[in-house]
Amino acid sequence: MPKSKKPDLFDVAVVGGGPSGRTAALKLARLGLSTVLVAPQSARPDGRTTALWQRSIGLLEDIGVWSKLSGNTESLKKMRMIDDTGRLIRAPEVVFNATEIGVEEFGFNILNRELNAVLEEACELQDTLTCISDTAESADFSPDFVTISTSGGKTFKVRLAVAADGRNSRLRETAGIEVKAWSYPQVAVVLNVDHRLPHHNISTEFHTPTGPYTLVPLPGRQSSIVCVETNEGANKLLSLTSDDLEMELERRAYSILGEFKLASEVQSFPLSGLNAQRLAGERLALVGETAHVFPPIGAQGLNLSLRDIDDLASVVAHAQARQQDIGSPAVLEIYESKRRSDIKTRTNAVDLLNRSLLTSFLPVQMARSMGMYMAGKVGPFRRLLMREGMAPGTGLYPPRH
Ligand SMILES: Cc1cc2nc3c(=O)[nH]c(=O)nc-3n(C[C@H](O)[C@H](O)[C@H](O)COP(=O)(O)OP(=O)(O)OC[C@H]3O[C@@H](n4cnc5c(N)ncnc54)[C@H](O)[C@@H]3O)c2cc1C
Repeated sequence: MPKSKKPDLFDVAVVGGGPSGRTAALKLARLGLSTVLVAPQSARPDGRTTALWQRSIGLLEDIGVWSKLSGNTESLKKMRMIDDTGRLIRAPEVVFNATEIGVEEFGFNILNRELNAVLEEACELQDTLTCISDTAESADFSPDFVTISTSGGKTFKVRLAVAADGRNSRLRETAGIEVKAWSYPQVAVVLNVDHRLPHHNISTEFHTPTGPYTLVPLPGRQSSIVCVETNEGANKLLSLTSDDLEMELERRAYSILGEFKLASEVQSFPLSGLNAQRLAGERLALVGETAHVFPPIGAQGLNLSLRDIDDLASVVAHAQARQQDIGSPAVLEIYESKRRSDIKTRTNAVDLLNRSLLTSFLPVQMARSMGMYMAGKVGPFRRLLMREGMAPGTGLYPPRH
């Protein structure tokens, strides 16, 4: 950034260097807007994987990063759900096949460290994007501009700030946007395993009384595991030796993929949820986990965040084409109204599925079993669920190719 006494002026600032922040910065910069990304270097590589659905892949294609990733991703062609609650009322097994809704795969499973690295490189190469490796220290919201100062002593003004600085967002707090936050009595134990048998591109989710236990295909004979457990159960798993953990996870998977060998470090994430009460403030839009957090169930979190970004970019592009102020209340109001129902529906669906597994209340168990029965047997309902699982509003229509 050139040295000057007057702060620089940009169209947009994106604050936060997670996948949401970098994707938003690239997408907005590629609209031709002068964009600044304030993103500190990540402390350690992210060992998780992320399953992304069709619309998310479309966005990664749009911003030119998908082709750099596709060698190291695995396609998800079938989703299998098995009731392993061991309860009186059990649901029948359900298998969803992508070909039933006219697509080859529902999406792809991607290593987070690769996604982050490719996004980082693309940000550095994007000519309408200025990257600052600091944290945002303060933001002053006024009717005409947002003035942002960083930990490295830089100050600049923007017409629109995009907060992607995560669940503890400083920008959101400075703007006075309140959140509803909650926690679950569960922890996700997360790791990758090599296995002896092929996965055939099938993602398998066992519904257990402590939460879902999910195996998601990776390239070759490897899968990522997200095992949702009680706090006590997770502590037990985390205290096992590698050999014992491999055997325990294989036992829980009924050896469907044969013998397991650890292929990554083991991480754990306490389950929690958060919803920002508003998605926009004065010249501010919230995206990603700054706006919504929910448990890693059904692979919805980053997919939802990427839809925030897609919608924000389309609202901004529309305003830009009409030479309107991209940070005006009218433009941000449209963004807020476009996103509300998708966020609410996903948060409620994930919450409901998780709580329906934890409860011993018979009517709730019956309702869940009935839902799974219908998903297995009733064609139109199956297809609606498959399409809605990938993106809202596509339930009655085929997804785009
Ligand atoms: C175990 C697990 C599995 C998951 N699996 C899936 C899946 O399969 N599919 C899916 O769609 N989602 C999945 N998710 C959800 C997904 O990982 C998250 O939604 C996603 O990582 C959130 O990205 P984000 O960029 O919004 O937030 P974050 O990754 O939290 O990024 C926030 C960034 O902001 C930076 N920051 C903080 N403060 C400041 C500041 N003041 N200035 C500048 N920068 C700042 C931080 O350093 C960080 O880099 C999973 C989550 C978990 C826990």
